[in-house]
Amino acid sequence: MVEARDPLVEARKQLRRAIDLLGYPDYIYEVLAEPERVIQVKIPVKTSDGVKVFIGWRSQHNSALGPYKGGVRYHPNVTMNEVIALSMWMTWKNSLAGLPYGGGKGGVRVNPKMLTPRELEELSRRYFEAISDFVGVDLDIPAPDVYTDPQVMAWYFDEYSRIKRGIYPGVVTGKPPELGGLKARIVATGYGVAVAVREAARRLLGGLEGKTVAVQGFGNVGYYTAKYLAEMGAKVVAVSDSRGGIYLPEGLDPDEVLAVKRREGSVIHYPKAKKKVSPMEVLELDVDILVPAAIEGVITEENAGRIKARLIAEGANGPTTTEAERILTERGIIVLPDILVNAGGVIMSHIEWVNNRMGGWITDEEALRKLESKMSENVRYVLSYWEKKLEVDKHPVRDAAYMIAVERVVNAMKLRGWI
Ligand code: GLU
Repeated sequence: MVEARDPLVEARKQLRRAIDLLGYPDYIYEVLAEPERVIQVKIPVKTSDGVKVFIGWRSQHNSALGPYKGGVRYHPNVTMNEVIALSMWMTWKNSLAGLPYGGGKGGVRVNPKMLTPRELEELSRRYFEAISDFVGVDLDIPAPDVYTDPQVMAWYFDEYSRIKRGIYPGVVTGKPPELGGLKARIVATGYGVAVAVREAARRLLGGLEGKTVAVQGFGNVGYYTAKYLAEMGAKVVAVSDSRGGIYLPEGLDPDEVLAVKRREGSVIHYPKAKKKVSPMEVLELDVDILVPAAIEGVITEENAGRIKARLIAEGANGPTTTEAERILTERGIIVLPDILVNAGGVIMSHIEWVNNRMGGWITDEEALRKLESKMSENVRYVLSYWEKKLEVDKHPVRDAAYMIAVERVVNAMKLRGWI
């Protein structure tokens, strides 16, 4: 992988651009470039070989539209700036999706693979305890992100309910179905990416049927994106994980690849693969559609010139740098931005949260239908705005997405009398 950039620098560049395009004065940039609050916590965990100390954060970027909302990631390289950038992206994502949420994000600097299940539980409970006065059903609602899952959410929910002496399933989303979560939450981000790609392909590529796809990253988002795109008629020809990638021009079966990954630890052991490639080479394959669904900062000015896909859908948060996007736009390659296409997870989170607060029992089918229509509508709206208000050969779709998202947040701040 390429050296990681500071995601906050990228996030601020994107904000700056939106402010300029909207013709807003500088102070609006100043207000939005910083989060409203960042909480840093120390998390000591007793392990079999002594006490280990971890650092965690919760960044609450903006609450003009509603309670802060966004996931918590566990990763050995998480930094405070990354968490702040991700919380800013959540503000735009939630605004653009039309959800009554502000933006937040959490992170703990830990390699969860090095912890026993009991240590992971301890870490999760202590993290949530440490931030418990700053989260809440109507205040800040965490959810899963990189390396956190429904079990971690169950511990958060339980710990919070214990501390606050009540039962508060709505304080986190992405819970197991037994605790008020939706099974559909697991597939939601990838399903949403696939729906968004289908909608955009209809408009921009003459349909999805038979189009070739490469997916970088085969975690939750990458796998479900590949699975649903294949079901919708696209041909997934390449996928990769952190160990490497595989290429099969006839098209591969994402379920078979997942079985191999589960059994042998990586997609590279898929026996039918014609060619092995590196995770970075996956980005440069000759395909119609590319889905970076792994980590930030993988499409840079260094490799943007070699990308062959016509359409890129950002399954991950922040995979394309500003400079890379400029090169791609010049080359006529369309990037569907993260804040638009990977909002399926948080849209489903909202459905879960509403359901919890009503004490309801929505079915997964109904929830997925709602997600599908919301995502298709959002993609159509953003693409129409882009075509109507901007010169499409000079402006990436992200410009349109940011203008819509930032304007809504600014209007909310004005109405509330903040600015
Ligand atoms: N972590 C996901 C994201 O980055 C989902 C957040 C949520 O469901 O609140 O969008």
